[in-house]
Amino acid sequence: MKIAVLPGDGIGKEVTAQAVKVLKSVLGPSATFTEAPVGAAGLAAAGVPLPAETLALARSSDAILFGAVGGPGDESGPRDKRPGLGLLTLRRELGLFANFRPAFLFPELIGASSLKPELVEGLDLIILRELNGDIYYGEPRGISVNAQGHREGVNTMRYSEPEIERIAHVGFRAARERRRKLCSVDKANVLETMQLWRETMARIGKMYPDVELTHLFVDAASMQLLRAPKQFDVVVTPNMFGDILSDAAAMLTGSIGMLPSASLGDGNKGLYEPVHGSAPDIEGKNIANPLAAILSGAMLLRHSFARKDDAARIERAVRSVLAEGYRTADIMQPGMRKVGTVEMGDAVVAVLRSA
Ligand code: NAD
Repeated sequence: MKIAVLPGDGIGKEVTAQAVKVLKSVLGPSATFTEAPVGAAGLAAAGVPLPAETLALARSSDAILFGAVGGPGDESGPRDKRPGLGLLTLRRELGLFANFRPAFLFPELIGASSLKPELVEGLDLIILRELNGDIYYGEPRGISVNAQGHREGVNTMRYSEPEIERIAHVGFRAARERRRKLCSVDKANVLETMQLWRETMARIGKMYPDVELTHLFVDAASMQLLRAPKQFDVVVTPNMFGDILSDAAAMLTGSIGMLPSASLGDGNKGLYEPVHGSAPDIEGKNIANPLAAILSGAMLLRHSFARKDDAARIERAVRSVLAEGYRTADIMQPGMRKVGTVEMGDAVVAVLRSA
């Protein structure tokens, strides 16, 4: 089992170290972990956000454990020198087009959710975000000076039918494994690209008559997600809308530090990362919540190595640590035991060892 470890920047390094510790305690010597720089770390090491050696390592590995990339001031400067491009290129190069973001609320964290307990109790939904298309990759793009002499920014929202079809199939198959409900999110009332998205989803949906298909405009979807999230099972979104909706879903689970993700393609290889970013505001303080990274490690075992039992063991260990009252600052509640990033990782390992 060959696992590439790309911690990236900021708290990416801190939380990934905890996930590696947990995976090592479960896998023992049967797995090799090889680390490489990406993002600002890639720029520092090789002048580019995704060094060739890092991409080669990712290609030759069975799975990739990713932290987060980015730092203060990243929004300026040339695009090819931005840390975030490292992750976008990696997803694209490896053909990882389906991003699963399960929003699952541990009962122990019900008080930490942004919504009332009765609205989120038993919350268990998946946001399935298309990851290789949309405005993040569409051409033309850039900032130029227009005929009136004003600077003008251009990005292009673009989806081809096959791109929509393949994420639709992934979504319907996932819904079949769950509660057989799929909600497709778009903005078909305003954007032609999204009209094609809706038509294609509806057409593919006819091949899955046992799955209930609904459509929501993204504005309505964000409202429903915050008003009555339990109505959702699998929510399939284009790239940009999924980026935004999954952060909102994270807050329902108590903290963005709780939400893992898996980016998958056609094979077993996957990239596993917490949904959050590099959080420069809390970097180096040992206060980042490592559970999203640790739970991403559980997803890695389940999807890339078919080790469902080991994945479930990690998830149970996380739950039992929460039940014992361990809390990082972001999910702290009265009467609980406040711990740092490293202590939280150690606590999960201790439960795994004792089980
Ligand atoms: P962020 O997710 O890094 O942080 C948002 C807020 O959540 C911050 O207040 C942060 O302290 C908090 N937070 C995030 N993760 C946490 C954790 N594990 N535990 C406790 N608190 C946590 O988003 P941002 O501030 O918008 O972006 C910071 C940098 O991260 C930017 O450079 C951005 O481009 C990058 N980013 C990277 C990714 C990625 O690598 N996948 C995703 C989002 C943002």
